[in-house]
Amino acid sequence: MSGTEDRTESIQPVLSVSNLTTSFRVGDGWRQVVRNLSFDIKPKETVAIVGESGSGKSVTSLSIMQLLPKNVSRIEGSIRLKGRELVGLDQESMRRVRGNDVSMIFQEPMTSLNPIFPIGKQIAEAILCHRDMSRAEARAEVLRLLEKVRIPNAKGRFDEYPHQFSGGMRQRVMIAMALASRPKLLIADEPTTALDVTIQGQILDLIKLLQEEEGMSVLFITHDMGVVAEVSDRTIVMFRGEMVEQGSTDAIFNRGQHPYTRALLSAVP
Ligand code: ADP
Ligand code: MG
Repeated sequence: MSGTEDRTESIQPVLSVSNLTTSFRVGDGWRQVVRNLSFDIKPKETVAIVGESGSGKSVTSLSIMQLLPKNVSRIEGSIRLKGRELVGLDQESMRRVRGNDVSMIFQEPMTSLNPIFPIGKQIAEAILCHRDMSRAEARAEVLRLLEKVRIPNAKGRFDEYPHQFSGGMRQRVMIAMALASRPKLLIADEPTTALDVTIQGQILDLIKLLQEEEGMSVLFITHDMGVVAEVSDRTIVMFRGEMVEQGSTDAIFNRGQHPYTRALLSAVP
């Protein structure tokens, strides 16, 4: 009996989304922009959500993070992170969850960095928010993180400001910041969309590498099927707020059935 329980424990998904429906207030009513979405992410797994602009990918990730404005949005269904229900969780507990278990990176890293503080200081603050450390220890940890995301001459760049970094290097800084809390799940919402193609490849390689080194799960959001092939174990195809298909990335590429999946695939060179 206890053996069965152990087995159940070991395969518990990191994230389990079930019947997620997210709506926004429109006039007197509500408009559903994500409908009845269900999927799991297992430990160390990378799952991609792919779909065209406006299909509800970012709303899905913001629903998981509970970052949608409360007064104009409504989340129904269940979102469990490491078994804990996030829907309806109070703000303070959710802040702790965001600090400990899940981090998110976005398309445009500049909007998440404060332009008037050096990046070393910003990452140190992120670390001190989540972990009990002295300033000197936090500084050493910042250097470790900057080196981990392969920023050349990390020590020399500690006191530089966000604008002194290129787009790709800024995204690396954001990834370092996301890793500060040692999350079990990293949500990456179009993290390479704003970058040049060669830099895109480097950031994807970095995410894959870190995923292995850190043993994280990754939810990777993109509109680009080419990127999906690069990163994900499993793929969810979203169309107009609904999941139209999900399966191993291999199966989606070779045996994807839905006409919308076929259309996305036909755009891959
Ligand atoms: P994607 O990330 O797939 O491009 P989004 O998840 O951002 O798409 O958006 C899905 C739909 O939800 C779009 O029609 C968008 O206009 C709408 N939407 C997103 N955020 C809000 C909001 N804060 N208020 C109202 N509608 C929103
Ligand atoms: Mg989006």
